[in-house]
Amino acid sequence: MKNLKNALLLKQLYRLKQLGYSYTSVVPFQEEEPDLTLPNTLEKLQKQALECHLCLLSKSRTHVVFGEGDLNADLMFIGEAPGATEDRLGKPFVGRSGELLTKMIENVLHVKREEVYITNIVKCRPTDNREPSPTEAHTCQPYLLKQIELISPKIIIALGATAYHYLTGDETNISKVRGTIHKQNGYTLIPTYHPSYLLRNPSAKKDVFEDLKMIKELM
Ligand code: SF4
Repeated sequence: MKNLKNALLLKQLYRLKQLGYSYTSVVPFQEEEPDLTLPNTLEKLQKQALECHLCLLSKSRTHVVFGEGDLNADLMFIGEAPGATEDRLGKPFVGRSGELLTKMIENVLHVKREEVYITNIVKCRPTDNREPSPTEAHTCQPYLLKQIELISPKIIIALGATAYHYLTGDETNISKVRGTIHKQNGYTLIPTYHPSYLLRNPSAKKDVFEDLKMIKELM
């Protein structure tokens, strides 16, 4: 919540800068204390995210990609950030890596894609497909944490190093932690490679296949 508060303060300062201020006191102007609590339904949370301008990614995005799937899913997949196709369509994992993720879910886990929930660490696309900055990831984090709280999945699959890092705080290389089981905050977290990594490194598909087989057993 501190991140959200800092982001709102930053937004106020940007607004003042646009008005021509070059200096202001720590509290730029008095206005009613903003309501920092996030909504308790996914529908309202999504509505709030769709209007979000808390970080600079809002300036270059076409659509906010909030997430999609079963709101009561036991399985949740969390990637890094929307790509170009996702940004254009406003849906997560719909490009080439999305097609591969769908195959992973349906052909190996034998559940329909609509039966899981899919989202990302940040909801807006970083240009040039760069990794989201720590500021962007931390600013967007309250949305993700609330999604996890409301959906309450049993298993979260962190797709790639960035998702694993921001979900656990651990910076260990993904090749060393993939397929490991982490119990935290009432769910089981399992990291594996991101589908876009698999498109570049097809030989790693067998590792992900092993990770998914283990997840299938846990299910
Ligand atoms: S990435 Fe997250 S915090 Fe940044 S503008 Fe988009 S929804 Fe808001």
